Amino acid sequence: MKSVWKISVCILLLTVTTQLVTLAQEDNKIRIIMIGAHPDDCDDDGGGTAALFAQMGYAVKFVSVTNGDAGHQLTGGVELAKRRFAEAQQAGKRLGVVYDVLDNHDGQLMPTIEVRLQIIKKIREWNADIVIAPRPNDYHPDHRYTGVLVQDAAYMVAVPNIAPETPALKKNPVFLYFQDRFQRPNPFRPDIAVDITAVFDKKVSALDAHESQMYEWLPWIGHYEDKVPKDKNERIKWLAETRKQTIKPEVRTKLEKWYGKEKAATIQHAEAFEICEYGTQPDDEMIKKLFPMLQNKKQESMN
Ligand SMILES: [Zn+2]
Repeated sequence: MKSVWKISVCILLLTVTTQLVTLAQEDNKIRIIMIGAHPDDCDDDGGGTAALFAQMGYAVKFVSVTNGDAGHQLTGGVELAKRRFAEAQQAGKRLGVVYDVLDNHDGQLMPTIEVRLQIIKKIREWNADIVIAPRPNDYHPDHRYTGVLVQDAAYMVAVPNIAPETPALKKNPVFLYFQDRFQRPNPFRPDIAVDITAVFDKKVSALDAHESQMYEWLPWIGHYEDKVPKDKNERIKWLAETRKQTIKPEVRTKLEKWYGKEKAATIQHAEAFEICEYGTQPDDEMIKKLFPMLQNKKQESMN
């Protein structure tokens, strides 16, 4: 009887240990949440990086803080919000990410406690290791306030008495900013640069899902409607051309740091991120752990 009992204990311990190891492995999986103001912002600023993470098996979520119900010249309100939600779901599917859309009005976003709590909950529920959002310097007030809202959440996600119905995070995530072109009060500083050449087409395909934006609203408000091809295949090629940007020298320098000079010279498309001063401050070792694609110097297409 005694030996049977011992065997049972051993089996039990083994099962518990295996479960703990599995849990630890799951815990090692980096969880990323990107937060933009509109359904298409995360795709445009971080779609390539998201696709790389997703291909490597990591969990990525996009959150649009507004429902996009003002972004069209012919339609608006619930009808447009529904259309943009469907587009976002399609884009999420193409990238392999979960796409959440919060029901706040487009063009009217304010950095209120109510929206701050919505964002705190989203970051906590996702158990995020990395949070990426816009800087609070931008031409669009919704982008600016999304930047403010996420900054305002950066400490509170770890404070248990705030939004107590959603358990606070045990560790503060790393908060990053998307790249932008704005110079005042200070220009964007690329701390992390990711080679997205292998997934550039995937990023364009996600953007292509936002038909109401890429082919209708943005060309209308930007006065280039006549440039949009009618044919579906032609217009995705055109969209890809509009997204082919010259990599800025400071981003190229960071690509050299992370990928080596030789590899960096061959990179055609990149996304860069700046480390926010709030939240966990990562050193280079931690950045390599959080962005495993940076360690892979011979990054081939993982399709
Ligand atoms: Zn936007």
